[in-house]
Amino acid sequence: MGEWHVTHDKLVQYMTALAASSDRINMENRGTTFEGRPLLLLTVTSPKNHTNIESIRAQHLALTTSEGQNLATENMPIVVYQGFSIHGNEPSGANAGLAYAYYLAAAQGPEIDAILNNTVILMDPSFNPDILNNTVILMDPSFNPDGLQRFAYWANTNRSHLLNPDPNEREYHEVWPGGRTNHYWFDMNRDWLPVQLPESRARIKSFHAWKPNILTDHHEMGTNSTFFFQPGEPTRVHPLTPAINQELTAEIGAYHAKALDKIGSLYYSEENYDDYYYGKGSTFPDINGSIGILFEQGSSRGHIQESENGIITFPFTIRNQFTTALSTVAAAQGMREKILNYQRDFFSNTRTLAAKEKQKAIVFGDTKDAAKTNHLAEILHRQEIKFHELKRDAVINGKKFKKGYGYVVPLNQQNNTLIQAMFEKRTTFSDSLFYDISAWTFPLAFNVAYTTTNNLNEAGSEVNEIPVSEGTISDSSQYAYLFEWHEYYTPKALNKILNKGLRAKVAKRAFELEGIKYDYGTIMIPVANQSLSANEIHKFLSEIAADAHIRIKGVGTGLSNGIDLGSNNFEALQKASFKRPP
Ligand SMILES: [Zn+2]
Repeated sequence: MGEWHVTHDKLVQYMTALAASSDRINMENRGTTFEGRPLLLLTVTSPKNHTNIESIRAQHLALTTSEGQNLATENMPIVVYQGFSIHGNEPSGANAGLAYAYYLAAAQGPEIDAILNNTVILMDPSFNPDILNNTVILMDPSFNPDGLQRFAYWANTNRSHLLNPDPNEREYHEVWPGGRTNHYWFDMNRDWLPVQLPESRARIKSFHAWKPNILTDHHEMGTNSTFFFQPGEPTRVHPLTPAINQELTAEIGAYHAKALDKIGSLYYSEENYDDYYYGKGSTFPDINGSIGILFEQGSSRGHIQESENGIITFPFTIRNQFTTALSTVAAAQGMREKILNYQRDFFSNTRTLAAKEKQKAIVFGDTKDAAKTNHLAEILHRQEIKFHELKRDAVINGKKFKKGYGYVVPLNQQNNTLIQAMFEKRTTFSDSLFYDISAWTFPLAFNVAYTTTNNLNEAGSEVNEIPVSEGTISDSSQYAYLFEWHEYYTPKALNKILNKGLRAKVAKRAFELEGIKYDYGTIMIPVANQSLSANEIHKFLSEIAADAHIRIKGVGTGLSNGIDLGSNNFEALQKASFKRPP
């Protein structure tokens, strides 16, 4: 370990072997990345706990609900979620994860000191496996498999036989695009709230399935820096995060400090890093009754590099990450009851405040774009926020909402704080400096109308799955078809129509035909003189309507109130010039 950068496929092999040989580890694959790599999660606890892991999980979740208020936390296991190298070119986390997983599988207490002493980075040979009786560790060994793989390739293929610490060495200058991001170059450490990428979807599902008490996020920073652990800059904590969260973070920090003191590693906290944007791994837990911890290790980038702190080696960085993975578990042990009680109180306080709120619901939607509205609803669904269909068309606080194009989010629910974090508009800040994102109001990002209301009168039935808007088409026409340009997927529909070789035109003015108003931008497909027959066109457009979730209307006349369908104000459309693979 530390001699080469582990590639993700080897990491998978190793974790598979480890899980197969340890009755403390259960490994699952939660999906695949865009490059087909597995998204592993190791659940680590005592063999006894593994026999009733589902009831442990159910009881843990119950603690966050009103039904579980009287559950005793005295003997309840604490749940710790530890994740590594979400930025794939910050590799010490994932490489430390190998040692850490081995440690959790194999450590047996003081009697095996002799064996453990041979292993450079096993720091605390007095590990007592009994702690696994009251701990469930969810270990996410690689938050970003594709990025880790990309970076390991770079560092390994540019490694010298005789390691060269000169910062000018090619090894320390990864080519663009680096391993920070996933396959599509998305920074996944901004996606914990929007949950758009497959890696994030798997992770957020695990998060809500377990509601861990502590979640750690192991990163790297500049080569001349030492080691950082949260709490960060006190003036840059999001105001929705309870003060006690930061106090507990500091108390956990004391465990990291003690462990790093013991091995002589320099570190710092309470400076530099924000705890503000809830879409980051170390902040997302803070709005969910959990405690998120950011770790940042000064990076060796490759294997060994000169720095202001002397030569920094890859194994040194791995050791610090390993040490703080263990001090996290030590803190979880030392503070177990306190942290479990904090979680219970967080949700209990949330419920009390939510029940008192004058405003009972948020209503959002776009009266012309069901697909876009549904994509926002999809995020709420992934975050396990409850919402309802809109019962009927409504005007609320001067804003128009349409049935089938809007939703009602009751505020009196378990995830009230998370809803606030997603919908509130915050424009003043106690500290104007930010590490990065300072605003993310979701309905504004989606450009949908939204408002609050003091009743639930417009709430229809609760939505329990990701809503998908229906595409529809009228009966077959011998004359022409029309659809408006408001839906999220209309460009996709038009592209398919043009690629099929059908002629289509766009209306440059609004008009009214057969009693229906059409906006400018409406697409018209004439039936006559096309390469397909009238029946074939209807069949093809039916597929398009379903695929793009749009409403297509056949008409029997070209005579409108406004521009007629043969008008020069319908402009012929050209196929986009790029070619897509079939
Ligand atoms: Zn990072």
